Parts: sequence; structure tokens; C-alpha cells
Amino acid sequence: MADTDFDLIIIGSGPGGYVAAIRAAQLGLKTACVDSRDTLGGTCLNVGCIPSKALLHASELYEEAHSGALAKWGVKTSGLELDLGAMHGARLEAIKGLTGGIEFLFRKNKVEWLKGHAKFTAKDSIEVAGKAYRAKNFVIATGSSVTPLPGVEIDHQRIVDSTSALELAKVPGTMVVIGGGVIGLELGSVWRRLGASVIVVEYLDQILPGMDGDVRKEAARIFKKQGFDIRTATKVTGAAKKGKKVILTVEPAKGGAASTIEADTVLVSIGRRPNTEGLDLAKAGLATNKAGQIEVDRDFKTSVPGIYAIGDVTPGPMLAHKAEDEGIAVAEILAGQIGIVNHEVIPSVVYTMPEIAGVGLTEEEARAQGEVKVGKFPMMGNSRAKTNREGDGFVKIIADAKSDRVLGVWMVASVAGTMIAEAALAMEFGATSEDIAYTCHAHPTHSEAVKEAAMAVTGKPIHV
Ligand SMILES: Cc1cc2nc3c(=O)[nH]c(=O)nc-3n(C[C@H](O)[C@H](O)[C@H](O)COP(=O)(O)OP(=O)(O)OC[C@H]3O[C@@H](n4cnc5c(N)ncnc54)[C@H](O)[C@@H]3O)c2cc1C
Repeated sequence: MADTDFDLIIIGSGPGGYVAAIRAAQLGLKTACVDSRDTLGGTCLNVGCIPSKALLHASELYEEAHSGALAKWGVKTSGLELDLGAMHGARLEAIKGLTGGIEFLFRKNKVEWLKGHAKFTAKDSIEVAGKAYRAKNFVIATGSSVTPLPGVEIDHQRIVDSTSALELAKVPGTMVVIGGGVIGLELGSVWRRLGASVIVVEYLDQILPGMDGDVRKEAARIFKKQGFDIRTATKVTGAAKKGKKVILTVEPAKGGAASTIEADTVLVSIGRRPNTEGLDLAKAGLATNKAGQIEVDRDFKTSVPGIYAIGDVTPGPMLAHKAEDEGIAVAEILAGQIGIVNHEVIPSVVYTMPEIAGVGLTEEEARAQGEVKVGKFPMMGNSRAKTNREGDGFVKIIADAKSDRVLGVWMVASVAGTMIAEAALAMEFGATSEDIAYTCHAHPTHSEAVKEAAMAVTGKPIHV
């Protein structure tokens, strides 16, 4: 084998690619991972999950102090100021620490990092920065990028995407978020907490498409209470710059009279699209589907033997943990082991305050499949949440009416992103609602609300 030959080359070092690379190397494969960014970790670590969570955490601290919420706990502040530069510094420090951590893990596991853009030259070879590399197998983990909105051209100054929205040098007076999905609501929350008036324009009748109906309603109620101006069933048809402002033209989604909204900053967050441009897939004999994704079977095989794909570039939810689990599974398959991802049990979380989380079927999906029983428990009935003044939200468990097997769990709660792990584990083990109801949960924790929602499936919660 020449120096440039590998057992496995992974294209993309996001959560799918870097995890696949480390596991493959752990299992003895001579592995390389290519990325065109200066740092490892892909969208997630550089411009996605991590920087957004850093700003969500920092802005939550600021809002707590600024809104007087801390004073209600007897913590008085004076001379409070926002130091946005320091906040961005904390974000950059988090990115640096974590991307450097992947670099360390690559060295530790002897994964070779190939820097540059990869393109296929044949089905068993690629070119990176003018050098040719061959491998027995390839994993495409090239992730996704922001979907543009025709008529609203992103300039990264006044009209921003999720990446430039993380880097604003000044808190906008008014920010319009186009798209009421996860990323728009998270980044909208950051800037609203720091002082912006935030208007969310959503094409559909409700925000958070794909989530359980009750959760969508409760989330909209809470976000409105927080000061978001949410305009559903509305479409943006164009944007014009006037002085320092952007004038957006909107109209009812079903058609009707147009009106305008003036904003200092417009965030386009209508979704993400798979990254396959410049990969020269055709040279490897590969094509994409209509959505631009690379289709794979349950073992992550594409239509070309020896080429696999995982993460955002493939169909399914665009989530870091889905990509990571697929990364582990594909590496194990390539090392001759069994690698499985249960795509029925992938939790999703919105990291607002309160957090919003779900796993499995929504109530609407479950009812379309057959008879169900539903148990719901309000966070107001949970002693810890009530004590912490985090009474907004609920936990809801959807179980099969006959077998009692849990089909879906949805929740709005301050720490829902952590609580949902229990639900995912229960579903992975095929738990019934009774299994959860009779599992001892520590007191006082928010997680007791999961137990009570399970008890509510049979009509017997205690604290409501
Ligand atoms: C603002 C924001 C917040 C998010 N928050 C969350 C969250 O809280 N939780 C969550 O689960 N998900 C979140 N996501 C989604 C998450 O980031 C993605 O689902 C995840 O990063 C996908 O991982 P991946 O490995 O498929 O690809 P990516 O992370 O997109 O990585 C792909 C990498 O491949 C590189 N690449 C692409 N083409 C080539 C090529 N030809 N040659 C070399 N390199 C190439 C790219 O530059 C990139 O570095 C968020 C996304 C955004 C934008």
C-alpha cells in the first residue's frame, strides 16, 4: 500500500465524519479524513450546535440578570452591562477548545487529516489539494449548508444566514427571522434576549414543522409571552435595502395583499441543503436524488460498491447525533462488525428556554397508525420545576392502546434536552408506559414529570 492509499477515506469531518474516522481507526483501519475547513468538527462545532449553544447560554444569563429574574432569587445586580465582544469571545473559545479536541483525538487514534476540498476522480480515488489518494472504501459525510431564499440575497451584514447570525457585532433593533424552525427560533432567542425585537415569519400555519401538535401550540404560546412577534401563514416575497434598513415584502401564504416589514437584520433560516457540489460524484458513478441527497440503504451503502454516505448529506433529520451514530455504525460495518442505527428513535431538541424535545411518533402520526393512549403531565405539577419557577410546559407520552408500548414522547421543559434521553432509552428497549411509571425517579428532579406522564397514560398521576 502506498502512503496515499488507505483502507478508508472519509470526506467531511463533521460529527458524522470525525466519529466514523475515530471508530474506524480504533478498529484497525488505516483511515484518513478530509475537510476543506481550517478546523475539524464540521458545521456542528464551527458554525452550528456548539457556537449557537454558547450564545444561547450566555444570552440566557444576561436575560436572567437584566430582566430582574435573578433579583427574585435575592441576587441583586447593579451596573449591569452587555459585553457582546466578551460573549463572542466565549463562543470562539468553545469552538477552539472542541475543534482542537478533535485534532487531538485524530492524532491519538492515528487518523490522517487531509486538508482541502475533496473531489472524486474515479470510484476508488479522490484528489485533495492537487494530490491523489486511493482507498478501499469511502464515506461521504459532507454535511449540509444554508438553503438560500430567492429574492432575499444573503450579504452577511444586514441579511444574514445562521453563520453570520452567530457573529453580529451589534444587537439589532429589529430582527426578522424567516422560518420558524429550530435554528431560527434558537438564534432569534439569542438576539431577543440581548435586546432585539424579533419577528418570526413562517410560511406554514404553525412554527416548528414536524413536531407534535401540542408542543407546537405550547411553544408558540410561550414564545409570544417572551415577546416574539410570530406571523404564521405568511410568505416573504422579496427584500430591498434602504439606507441601513431592509424592507421585506410579505404576503399571506395563500395569496393576498402584500405588506412590508422594516428590519435592521434579516435572518434567512428556511432550511439546509446537502453538500455535494464540487465532489464530482459523476466520476465515481454516483448521482443524487431530487432533494440533492445521496441515497443509502440501511448499511449506508450508496449505489456504488465501496462508497458509503452518512449524516446530513443523506435523507433523514439533519441532526448531529444522527450523523454521529451513523458514523459509528458505518465504521463498524466496514471493520466487519454489525453496525445499526435505529432511525425510529432519534431525539430532536430545540435549545430555547424552555427547551423543546421529542422522540418517536407525534400524537398525530401515532393516531394515524392505530389506537393510542396519551398521558400528559404539566411541569407546574413538578416540584423542582415549580421551585425553580420553570413551570411552563409539559411531558406527553403516547403509547399503543393495546400493548402499552411507548410510541413517542414529547416535552416542553427547561431541561427537556436532557430529559429526552430517558425516553429514547426506554423506547430503544421497547418499554411500555407502565415500565416508566414503575421506574423509581430521583426526587426532586424535572425527570419525575416523565414518570408522572407515564402514570397519566393509565389515568393515575399523583401530582395533578
Ligand atoms: C446554527 C446551527 C445550529 C445547530 N444546532 C444543532 C443542535 O443543537 N443539535 C443537532 O443535533 N444539530 C444541530 N445542527 C445541525 C448539525 O450541525 C448537523 O446536523 C451536523 O453538523 C451534520 O453533521 P455531518 O457530519 O453530516 O456534516 P457537517 O457537520 O456539515 O460537516 C461536513 C463537513 O464536510 C466538509 N466538506 C463538505 N464538502 C467537502 C468536500 N468536498 N471536501 C472536503 N470537505 C468537505 C464541510 O466543510 C464540513 O466541515 C445545527 C446546525 C446549525 C447550522
